Order: sequence, then C-alpha cells, then structure tokens
Amino acid sequence: LVFCQALPKIELHAHLNGSIRDATLRELAAQLNGTSISMPDVQLRTQQASRPLGECFKLFDVIHQITTTCAAITRIAREVLADMAADNVVYAELRTTPKSLPRHGMTKESYMSAVFQGIDDYYAASSRAHDIQVRLLLSIDRRQSTDEALETARLAVQLRDKGVVGLDLSGNPSVGQWETWVPALDFARQHGLRVAVHAGEVYNPEETAAILAWAPDRLGHMCCLDASLEQQLLLSRVPIELCLSSNVITGSVPSYQDHHFAALHNGGHSVVLCTDDSGVFATTLSREYAIAASAFTLSDEQLRQLALTAADHVFLEPGERQVLRARMEQLLGGSS
Ligand code: 5GP
Repeated sequence: LVFCQALPKIELHAHLNGSIRDATLRELAAQLNGTSISMPDVQLRTQQASRPLGECFKLFDVIHQITTTCAAITRIAREVLADMAADNVVYAELRTTPKSLPRHGMTKESYMSAVFQGIDDYYAASSRAHDIQVRLLLSIDRRQSTDEALETARLAVQLRDKGVVGLDLSGNPSVGQWETWVPALDFARQHGLRVAVHAGEVYNPEETAAILAWAPDRLGHMCCLDASLEQQLLLSRVPIELCLSSNVITGSVPSYQDHHFAALHNGGHSVVLCTDDSGVFATTLSREYAIAASAFTLSDEQLRQLALTAADHVFLEPGERQVLRARMEQLLGGSS
C-alpha cells in the first residue's frame, strides 16, 4: 500500500456523492435531526463487505436526501479533491448528476455552481494547489427521460469552459432503456464532448451489444458479458474503467481473483483502475492499486505502467493530454 500511495495516479471514474466522507455524511445527517432521514438509514451505510447493487442504489437515495443544499455539495467537492490529492491523485475526472430540487431552491445550474465553488475552495485553501488537476463529467441518471438527459447534455456543453469534458451514463442498471439516452449522448458527441458509459454491471446482452455498437469513448465496469460480447469488447479497443472493490462488494464479480481485470490486462486491453465511490465502498485509489497488485501479482513496474497509461485515456484535448502524460512520466521517474 505504501508503494501505491506514493505512486502518482489518475482517477477517471469517481461519482461525487458516492465519494462523500463518512464523517461528513454523518454530520450532515445529524444536522437534519431526524426530519427527513433516520440515523439507522445512515448507519446502513457503514462499511460492509458485501452490498448488492440494488442496495447501493437505495443508499445513494439516502445520501441524496442528506446532500440537498448547495453548501453541502460545495463541501463534498472540496473534500473529495482534498482526499484525492492526499492520495497522490494528480488528475481526476469527477462525475455527478446535476440535480434540480425546487423544494430546496436548487437548480441544475446552481448545483453545478456549487460543485465549481467546492473546487475553487479547495485550490484557495490548499498549499498543495495544482498538485491535482480536475475535470468534470455530467452524469445522466438512468431514471431520466430523453428530455431530462438532453437537458444534462446541453448543460454539459454550456459548461465546457468551466472544465466539463464529457458526459456519463450511470444509475441503476436495472432501470430504463438504452435508447432513451442515445439522443443526449449523440448531442454531446456532436458538440465535441467525450462520453463514458456504465455497461455490463448486470447481465443484459442486448443492451451491452447496443452500447458497444454506439462505441463510447470509455466504458465502465463491463463485468457481465457472454463470450460473444467479450469478443466484441476486445475488438472495440474501448478503454475500460475498472473498479475492483465496487464490483466485488456489489457482487457484479464474485471475488478479486475472478475479476476480469486479469484477462483484459494480460490481453493488452486498455484498463484504468478507479474507485467508483470511495465513500460508499470505503476505498482510495491507492487501495485499488494495492488490491490489484496482490490479487493479480503485479510488479512495481506494472503498477507504474498502469498509472502512466491512464493518461492516454483522459478526456483532455490531445495537447493537454500529452502534457499530463509527460508530467506522469516525470513523476513516475521520481517515484522509482
Ligand atoms: P452523484 O451523481 O449524485 O454525484 O453520485 C451518485 C450517483 O452515481 C448514484 O446515484 C448513481 O446514479 C451513480 N453511481 C454511483 N456508483 C455507481 C455504480 O457503481 N454503478 C452505477 N451504474 N451508477 C453509480
């Protein structure tokens, strides 16, 4: 773990509200004082070795009932950045679903302003400023309609100069139909944004085939595939964001040893280790690297290569991507 902590790393799959600190979640819940949320609901969240995917989405609903103010969102964004920087993450793409909560006076725009404020606050307060570079993906939640998804895509395009580089499709994989969100993903792509899609978290071969045919810029998870989809995936060469703890805790993959990381990595397919929800799954990116090192007997050099090649899959423009890669090479040279 010490080696993995010292390693400069790139985080490409982290959901903002899923990355909330445990202490912050409890503090915000206590402030609600039992009005809309009960402490047992929150305690449900305490770290568990296994939590079926469906339970995770109930938990996200609980978290969302606690994080309803712009101040809370600002705080979470600031703390997530601080935690990542402390873990030696030098570049992060953070994703979140902009929320409209009229009862709380929150619009999707003010939600995003709160996220930007948190990022600004981090840089203003941190002596580690510029150690971590951050970009954002806006997430479409699978509960959303075509119109709502389009609204998120338009907002993402509007916020490009604020650091939004792409769109993500996430949310409960048992909910909704892929076709619903295609117009929004097409719109984003036509406007120069990159697109990451959660796929294959549950076995749904028709949907996974349709997603592969659409060819997202990156895929998340890809746990439950049949042989023909596996073949299609390898041919697609689309990089995959892999979240080991998340996949094992939710039961999408039975154990670390059974995780498809090994086959993909050994087969030369591009993979990027990520946390998914560092709060919900009680992890850090260093820990994910350490789990990979132990489960798949990776050498220090292989870990360095994994960290470095993540730079090739960021959603930055080519020039910026090269600068990041050069920075990673320099830092990794220093870490050897
Ligand atoms: P937020 O978008 O509110 O910042 O982050 C939490 C949301 O991210 C969840 O409500 C869910 O939509 C999405 N999310 C977090 N983790 C996962 C995951 O493992 N799988 C999927 N499909 N969605 C997730």
